Amino acid sequence: MMGELTESAVFLDRDGTLIEEVGYLDRVERVELYPWTIDAVRSFNRAGFRVVLVSNQSGVARGFFTEAVVDEVHRHMAQLLAAGGARIDAYYYCPHHPDGKVAGYALACDCRKPNPGLVERAVREFGIDPARSFVVGDRWLDVALARRVGARGVLVRTGYGATEEGKPPADLVADAIADNLIGAAGWILKHSPC
Ligand SMILES: [Mg+2]
Ligand SMILES: [Zn+2]
Repeated sequence: MMGELTESAVFLDRDGTLIEEVGYLDRVERVELYPWTIDAVRSFNRAGFRVVLVSNQSGVARGFFTEAVVDEVHRHMAQLLAAGGARIDAYYYCPHHPDGKVAGYALACDCRKPNPGLVERAVREFGIDPARSFVVGDRWLDVALARRVGARGVLVRTGYGATEEGKPPADLVADAIADNLIGAAGWILKHSPC
């Protein structure tokens, strides 16, 4: 029996949202936070949101890098954020892809965005109410994830976002489109239920 869902969260895409989009991120040396990332995450921390990273990392299924590399990237991000007084509460990612070639990862799963598996995990672990929560990302699939779970979705123009903005899917509208994560944070704090 699940407890009451009382927490609000901001679910953040990783590549092109928190850090520079560099294609398949296969080395920790290539991690680069955007200049506003620490301020944005800290503002979510202060406002009382859980901050949960949700990322598709199909490079694992494709054999481009291992889960150990993904974990190393997330440890490094956590250090950079901590140095600025910011904290991501959980780092969730999907290592799968149906077209992958690595045994155990080459499959259709329920956690590859826009499937809701990663958000459902946060609901279980933190008691998060998706209806009081937000998803921020640079792809329409991030907005689609928000729709799937009943959260609000913000598209950012960093990473692939500017390109994505120019080719919106027929059946999908973002609740807001922001230049970057700090812009998204401004909109979210204004529309926050906390
Ligand atoms: Mg992205
Ligand atoms: Zn998955």
